[in-house]
Amino acid sequence: MELESILLPGVDAKRPFVIAGPCSAETEEQVMEAARSLKSHGIKIFRAGVWKPRTKPGGFEGVGVEALPWLKRVKTELGMYTAVEVATAKHVRECLSHDVDILWVGARTSANPFAVQEIADALEGIDIPVFIKNPVNPDLDLWIGAIERIHNAGIRRIAAIHRGFSSSDKKIYRNLPLWHIPIELKRQIPNLPIICDPSHIGGRRELIAPICQQAMDLNFDGLIVESHCHPDKAWSDAAQQVTPDVLDFILNTLVIRDMTQSTENLTVLRRQIDDLDNSLLELLARRMRVSVEIGVYKKEHNMPILQEQRYGEIIANRVEQAGRMGMDAEFIKTVLVAIHEESVRHQMEVMKK
Ligand code: PEP
Ligand code: MN
Repeated sequence: MELESILLPGVDAKRPFVIAGPCSAETEEQVMEAARSLKSHGIKIFRAGVWKPRTKPGGFEGVGVEALPWLKRVKTELGMYTAVEVATAKHVRECLSHDVDILWVGARTSANPFAVQEIADALEGIDIPVFIKNPVNPDLDLWIGAIERIHNAGIRRIAAIHRGFSSSDKKIYRNLPLWHIPIELKRQIPNLPIICDPSHIGGRRELIAPICQQAMDLNFDGLIVESHCHPDKAWSDAAQQVTPDVLDFILNTLVIRDMTQSTENLTVLRRQIDDLDNSLLELLARRMRVSVEIGVYKKEHNMPILQEQRYGEIIANRVEQAGRMGMDAEFIKTVLVAIHEESVRHQMEVMKK
């Protein structure tokens, strides 16, 4: 893909490229206070949400166009660059008429090709950096499709933002990182810079530092972090925002490993293995839960646990399928027998109850 550097004059070429600022522009004072404090810590690019996509109506939906002159002040008085999320052609036009420097497409928008195309059409003939967040659902092609639509409009300063993927499993993360997806994006479009958004992945401020470090270890190019001077009072995403001082501490404690190509690749590959093992474990746990349901059914209908014919069929089918997928028959038999043993153990527990 033909791309140009996203670096703006005065922004260092070293990793990480950092964008920071509040989730939302709330008031002129809040914007100026955050921008001043971030600037004092060397941050050059200020983010703020002006139009906020809310899951339900009635939440804080952003100040709207009224906030754009505040961002203009951040630019003219503090000399910072500004970045704003756009979701419609109108947002694009309003940002352009208020000299916003960088536009980004949010996760809910990048999941919708109609919306992305509308934005792309509004960008035709304009030269501005556009960053594209991954869609909320873990669909790499949809993410690449959004990037291509913007690229087809003639935009050449493009970066991808990894902000994690929506999931019903919210034990640790607000949005699952599924690192293998941005890694695969990087493999498919090697010259595309990737920026990590630890705030929306983590959803909690304690997770910002470790996620930033992981992104750096995976050789991501930049970070976009939500930062607010009074995080607990923020009108949106309060739990995940950090003060500019905390952000500065996090950035200063990051270890930026200057990896040689080979160890860098190894880290990336190991991360993929970790993710895949995770998926395997989740699948196995799901399979066991289904086994338990079958156990309950068998108990209610007075059926024996072991159904020889079914078991024989499973082994034969799977071994053949595994063979077609390039796996050894003996290997897959060992795996299936072990899985079956564990299933039977779960069903025995059900019978005992
Ligand atoms: C945001 O950056 O504040 C935002 C709304 O993010 P996302 O599109 O990733 O949910
Ligand atoms: Mn937010």
